[in-house]
Amino acid sequence: MADNHIFTQAVHAGEGAPPPEGRPISTPIYPAVTYTYPDMHDLSGVLSGERSGYVYARYGSPTVAALERAVEALEGAEDAVAFASGMAALHLALVQSGVRPDAPVVAARDLYGTTHTLLAQFFAAADRTPPRTVDMTDLDAARAAMEEVRPRVVLLEVLSNPLLTIADLPAIAEAAHRAGATLIVDSTFTTPFLIQPLKHGADVVVHSATKYLGGHGDVMAGVIATDAHRAKGLRELIKVYGCNLGPFEAWTALRGIQTLPLRMREHCANALKVAHWLNDHPRVARVWYPGLSDHPQHDLARRLFREGCFGGMVAFELRDAGEPEIYRVMEALRVVQTAPSLGDVSSLILYPARSSHRALSREERYRLGITDGVLRLSAGIEDANDIIADLAQALAT
Ligand code: PLP
Repeated sequence: MADNHIFTQAVHAGEGAPPPEGRPISTPIYPAVTYTYPDMHDLSGVLSGERSGYVYARYGSPTVAALERAVEALEGAEDAVAFASGMAALHLALVQSGVRPDAPVVAARDLYGTTHTLLAQFFAAADRTPPRTVDMTDLDAARAAMEEVRPRVVLLEVLSNPLLTIADLPAIAEAAHRAGATLIVDSTFTTPFLIQPLKHGADVVVHSATKYLGGHGDVMAGVIATDAHRAKGLRELIKVYGCNLGPFEAWTALRGIQTLPLRMREHCANALKVAHWLNDHPRVARVWYPGLSDHPQHDLARRLFREGCFGGMVAFELRDAGEPEIYRVMEALRVVQTAPSLGDVSSLILYPARSSHRALSREERYRLGITDGVLRLSAGIEDANDIIADLAQALAT
């Protein structure tokens, strides 16, 4: 009879090695979906939550936990929870905070287009009443909306997409809490390098780690930094929603975070130079950048953000331009990549009317100031002179 022991050996012989002696200086990627315990009481204890440990990757895994510890530290939070994408993080932040179709939200008027869609599709009342949106830079209007609606949640972006408005976080937090609301802020554009929103009164900080935290355009992930109680609730939701982050993605995001401060310093410096240059260009009608002294919230940015840092995003409007002119300029670019994302080492440019805010009607977009001539640039960490030279030749077309 043939010895088929090799079938068993092939499956098991290489597995079950003890942890290595000596601590690896880079976090290992743990792809295991499930974990075994010699004592069944231990497995049962982990499943019941009576003891710590891993049991099933949707419930948590070591590489993902390492990413969570990094964001927790950078945000000065009690805990952090990772998700499969920024949208998954935003969705569960709203669910965990008690938002239902019949529980109102006051949201910033200026939000990433898909966040508007999330609110409209999942959380609008059955009669399709949209959540109340308000210009968060108008404190009186924001306060009045919160007093009137008494929302379960107030949602805003610290630095808004794409026109880079800034809300007075401490004042909004105070008003939200007075109205009994949870304040959820999306800090994707700012990152903990510019601001730690929890220190300014936010309850929940959401990141699309796909952007600056990952930083290289090679990973999709979301992270929430918050208090221990909310984080526990979020982990329970991930178990049933199944939007957990995978270990390879967690490792990639963690690797990205190691250079976040270095990259952010360069993103900010380059964006400032590009914004000044665009401001003087005859084809440019308007530039939005918080580091320019004529930005409406320039002083607020100086108060809230790390000294001398205003982020890596610049929005600008081409004079008398619509889709054909915009496409001509975008197609002429060589260093700046035309791609619908941001926060990468590479400079990226996006046409909000046809990408991030495509789902909005033209009227809605124009009401937000996102005209057919607006472009959004994510300044990379290339030499600023090369970015500017590329923009110059493209604008000359
Ligand atoms: N929040 C902001 C401000 C964004 O710009 C984006 C995506 O562009 C998201 C959230 C969604 O993140 P993700 O694409 O990782 O789901």
